[in-house]
Amino acid sequence: MSAATATAPRALTAPVDRPTVSFELFPPRNPDAAPKLWATIQALESARPDFVSVTYGASGRTRQTTRQLVRRLLRETSLNPIAHLTCVDSSREETTTIVEEFLDEGVRSFLALRGDPPADAVDWHPHPQGLHTAADLVELLREIEGRRCAVSPAQAVRATVRPLSVAVAAFPRGNHATGGTRAQDVASLLAKQQAGADFAITQVFFEADAYLGLVAEAREAGVTIPIIPGIIPTTDPDRLLRVQDLTGVPVPRALLDVLGGADDETERHRRGIRACVDLVNGVLDGGAPGVHVYTFNQHRAALDLLEGAHLGGSGEARQPL
Ligand SMILES: Cc1cc2nc3c(=O)[nH]c(=O)nc-3n(C[C@H](O)[C@H](O)[C@H](O)COP(=O)(O)OP(=O)(O)OC[C@H]3O[C@@H](n4cnc5c(N)ncnc54)[C@H](O)[C@@H]3O)c2cc1C
Repeated sequence: MSAATATAPRALTAPVDRPTVSFELFPPRNPDAAPKLWATIQALESARPDFVSVTYGASGRTRQTTRQLVRRLLRETSLNPIAHLTCVDSSREETTTIVEEFLDEGVRSFLALRGDPPADAVDWHPHPQGLHTAADLVELLREIEGRRCAVSPAQAVRATVRPLSVAVAAFPRGNHATGGTRAQDVASLLAKQQAGADFAITQVFFEADAYLGLVAEAREAGVTIPIIPGIIPTTDPDRLLRVQDLTGVPVPRALLDVLGGADDETERHRRGIRACVDLVNGVLDGGAPGVHVYTFNQHRAALDLLEGAHLGGSGEARQPL
């Protein structure tokens, strides 16, 4: 692939310097979609990601399918799944039950989110007995784990061998869904860290400076946890515009023009991967610890992107640690 040859291989001083690679998946929308998702998962597994994260539908709508997918990933693959979890539409008690269910199944990694109302909700209010912020959920996760370890020495040993890890969200341009600015998001990120978050994953962005600016502001404010950039492969203009509508993150006109000027699908894919490789190189050169790729349950663009950025991919096995 020409994008792969456009840049020199990333110089690594030691294998441990290799950036992390991870993927976001969503649970299959219906049973018919499951076989295709599993083919995707097998293809992504070849890139030996550090983890894969599994989304949780608005207001816990995919609670069962998220659980089923995470359980199957744990049992049938070598992948390390992170379960997304939202809290804003459940009571504290309900959220506690859900966390206990995940922990009972051996899940040790969560992405703790506040969550948004469903898109079609009219006159929606947060649950009156619920948690109000992602930081509250991080705190609850730590509290539940502490309680389980306190009553069970066996659990305490397991927790030493496989510690609970809690990730959170960060927003390079502020959170448009809540009308939040970047300064508010940095304050919220600091609160999540203080509650016990281990690392953050960002919302999509299209310019390296958006990510690097967030990291600089966060460090200035006292945030020390790693912040992993969330990257969407920029190959499909229709998808980019849908993401723009959903997140409020504007897609640069220049990127849409580059994609729109392609003669065919193959050329558009090649141009999109090249633009995204530049973005990945920009954030890694600026110190990003790795990349989290929003796959939309499709492997080709994700793997071509990794190959182009010399992070492994379809044809290139990643070096063992
Ligand atoms: C990587 C990633 C994955 C996601 N996955 C999912 C998913 O699977 N399912 C889903 O439904 N949604 C998902 N979302 C969307 C997310 O739930 C929403 O964007 C939600 O609006 C905010 O979530 P949060 O966890 O950042 O909330 P919070 O950090 O709690 O923020 C919510 C609002 O409160 C403000 N706030 C909170 N604490 C403070 C504070 N101490 N000081 C100042 N302001 C504060 C924030 O600025 C923000 O406006 C994801 C988002 C990202 C970036």
